[in-house]
Amino acid sequence: MATILDGKALAERIRADVKADVAQLGGVGLATILVGDDPASQIYIGLKHKAATEVGIEAIDVRLPAETSEEELLEQVEALNADDSIDGLLVQLPLPAHVDEALVLRSLDPAKDVDGLHPWNAGHLFLGRPTLVGATPVGILALLDEYRIPLEGARAVVVGRSDIVGKPVAALLLQRNATVTVCHSRTRDLAAMARDAEILVAAIGKARFVTAEMIRPGAVVIDVGINRVEGKLAGDVDFAAAQRIAGWITPVPGGVGPMTIAVLMSNTVRAAVRRRV
Ligand code: NDP
Repeated sequence: MATILDGKALAERIRADVKADVAQLGGVGLATILVGDDPASQIYIGLKHKAATEVGIEAIDVRLPAETSEEELLEQVEALNADDSIDGLLVQLPLPAHVDEALVLRSLDPAKDVDGLHPWNAGHLFLGRPTLVGATPVGILALLDEYRIPLEGARAVVVGRSDIVGKPVAALLLQRNATVTVCHSRTRDLAAMARDAEILVAAIGKARFVTAEMIRPGAVVIDVGINRVEGKLAGDVDFAAAQRIAGWITPVPGGVGPMTIAVLMSNTVRAAVRRRV
């Protein structure tokens, strides 16, 4: 049976450290902008604010109606960019179709961009330089390090190439000298690719897509997926079968999800520290 990579436990420790850092800094501010009423986005924003309150981060929860114009949203971002009490700023995705997402992300102050989605931060990550990197990829690496999973020279396969998970986690694994393959919807013979992986990261958004046959015996399996199946949460990995094959595995819930929330808090502290030097 696989060892469980306990994201919940590590996230609790990170949050305790963040709480101490926030107290020492004497106040840290985070602002989130949510446009529209997507139910999943509302849940994520709620979790982020709950975590912020718990660690003592002052959090501003900006909610705008779905019909908000691009111009109005840009004005809101600009106001928060200019607000010196705000250290971290994020725009919850997806945005409504009439808004140019890339334009909005480009309008963020890169120094406050705690999701690491501004091209300045994404570019620095690509170049292997220290910068703000999104909470999910950073959380995944923190979890691998916590369990002392060797990354150097390891064959890592990332399934999914989104800007928020797949690409940045691939970049971080590469920085740590893993040999990284990124798979996506056009990949031929994905099962064989996945089966070759010593570290398999599933960030697809399809419930139980990764079956036991796609996992190399003893592999490290990181399940990023959050899918709702008959009212329950399910990952992108068929956990029940996979845990009998894998060496290590993250559960859903209790794996990558809590790490994301905790690292968002530590990213906000990081932004605050960088802004104050
Ligand atoms: P996206 O929808 O942006 O990306 C999904 C990726 O999976 C794409 O690159 C897509 O390929 C690929 N894909 C889709 N279908 C297949 C397939 N049949 N075979 C191979 N690849 C496929 O999703 P996100 O990266 O934003 O999120 C992925 C999952 O992770 C979701 O369940 C999301 O809810 C969850 N998530 C969880 C977080 C957490 O904190 N735990 C944080 C963020 C996301 P292509 O590019 O070719 O279309």
